Order: sequence, then structure tokens, then C-alpha cells
Amino acid sequence: MSSNAIFPDLKEKIILVTGGTRGIGKTICESLAAQGATVVFTTRGNPEQKEELRRHFETFGGKSFGLSFDVTDSKKAQEELDRFTKEVGPISGLVNNAGIARDQLIMRVKSEDVDQILNVNLKSAIMMCALLSRNFLRAKDVSIVNISSVVGLMGNGAQSVYAASKAGLLGLTKSLAKELSSRQVRCNAICPGFIETDMTGALDEKVKLSYLTGIPLGKFGKTQDVANLTCFLLSMSSSYITGEVIKVDGGLYI
Ligand code: NDP
Repeated sequence: MSSNAIFPDLKEKIILVTGGTRGIGKTICESLAAQGATVVFTTRGNPEQKEELRRHFETFGGKSFGLSFDVTDSKKAQEELDRFTKEVGPISGLVNNAGIARDQLIMRVKSEDVDQILNVNLKSAIMMCALLSRNFLRAKDVSIVNISSVVGLMGNGAQSVYAASKAGLLGLTKSLAKELSSRQVRCNAICPGFIETDMTGALDEKVKLSYLTGIPLGKFGKTQDVANLTCFLLSMSSSYITGEVIKVDGGLYI
């Protein structure tokens, strides 16, 4: 385990992060591993890629396991999760991070785009919580973190479907916080602003510049900024916080 663990209780936890292959999810896995947590990540890649990632995370500390499923395939997810929890133990932290963005004007939106964005960004998070709900009863100090977006709070042109999916996550977060609190299961949401990853790298330079001018701190965020808050929310340092929505956006939405 890393000698500079800030959240020592994380080393007792088994934490599942969806979409751990790149961007924010990958940095969350690295940061949790550095705290000594057991990190379980999902991948859609081949077994070699999965093994490479697993070894990569273990270089940070802790133990790591990869599960192979697309988050929209809840049957496969259930099989993988059942096998994992039987062989290793109950999952005590969940980060619903996997997500896609497909920017388009409302007049160009097609039914299949809506299905895909809602399935990956919203339905998968609902299903992960549903599939793990019994498992959570066997685990201790459970914390769920949903990665939403400031766009889910403030809306954005050409992102109506994405924004709807991210706003949906906020309703899910608050409902689960109420429903599961009697079991001491907490649920919070993080709303990142503009974080430098493949997702935002795909944007036009002009669009990036216009975002930058609207950020009071005058810079884009790093994946580590989101990972730091995620570790805090998963740890017992945030044990009295539930149903909360926290922005990591450099002041973009003040
Ligand atoms: P990236 O595009 O860099 O990474 C997305 C991750 O999600 C990858 O690991 C990808 O896996 C995984 N994923 C996508 N679709 C599926 C699927 N069907 N099944 C399993 N895994 C899937 O995105 P970011 O790191 O930027 O974003 C992470 C989260 O943060 C998303 O929910 C996003 O909406 C949110 N967010 C990001 C912001 C930003 O500025 N970057 C701002 C606000 C919110 P694979 O490698 O297999 O494709």
C-alpha cells in the first residue's frame, strides 16, 4: 500500500469502477489503488488489455481485478458480478463512471442515439445499483458515487440528450440516498465541469476556448481533481454526507 494514504479505511474496501480503461475512471482506479483499496474495474477490451490494466493499477498499491462487460449488458454484468462477489467478497463501493457524449442539435437527434446515450449514462447506473443491492446488504460502510456533469445541472446547447441522462443521475442519487440510508448505504453525485480527457479532446478548438472563457479559475480540470473527491466520498471521511451533488468545475456554474 502507498505510504501516503489519506483515507486509511479505503484499504478495507472493495470498490467497483465502471469504465476504468481511460480518462476519469482510470485515474479514479489509480487513486483508489494508491490508498490501498481493492480496485475492481470494468473493461470491454480483450483479456490482454484487461491483464495489462490490472497490473498497472497494482503498481499503485492494493489489489486489482478486471471484469469484462459492456455496461449496457445487464445479464453479462450480473454473471460477472455474481462470480466476483462469490470468489472474492462483497463490493462496498461503487463508482458509476462509464459514459458517452454525442453532441447534436435537437433537430438531428435520432431515436437510436437517445437509446444509446440513456442506456450507457443512466440505465447502466440504475442497473448496477439494482444488481448490487443485495450485495450491499452484506458489505460494510457502502458508498455509491455517480459521475454526473455540470451539464446535468445547467443544461447545454447541442447536449440535450446527454444533459437529460446526467440530470437523471441526480434524481437517482437522491432517491437511493433516501431509500438506502436505513442500511447506512450512502449515495452522492459528482458534477465535473470541463475535464481534459478523450471525451473533451474530441471537441473543436473554438468550442474549447469558449468554455475556457467561462471558467473563473481560468483552466480546464484534470482527472485527478475528480478522483480526489471520489476517494473522499467513498471513504468514511465523508460518513455523514449522502444525497449530495458536488461540482468540480473551476467555478463554471456559479
Ligand atoms: P472517456 O471517453 O475518456 O472514457 C469513458 C469511459 O467509459 C471509458 O473507460 C469507456 O470504456 C467507458 N465506456 C463507455 N461506454 C461504455 C460501455 N457501453 N460499457 C462499458 N464501458 C463504457 O470519458 P471521461 O473520462 O471524460 O468521462 C468519464 C465520465 O465523466 C463520463 O460519465 C462523463 O460523462 C463524465 N464527465 C466527463 C466530463 C469531462 O469533461 N471529461 C465532464 C462531465 C462529466 P472503453 O475504453 O471501452 O470505451
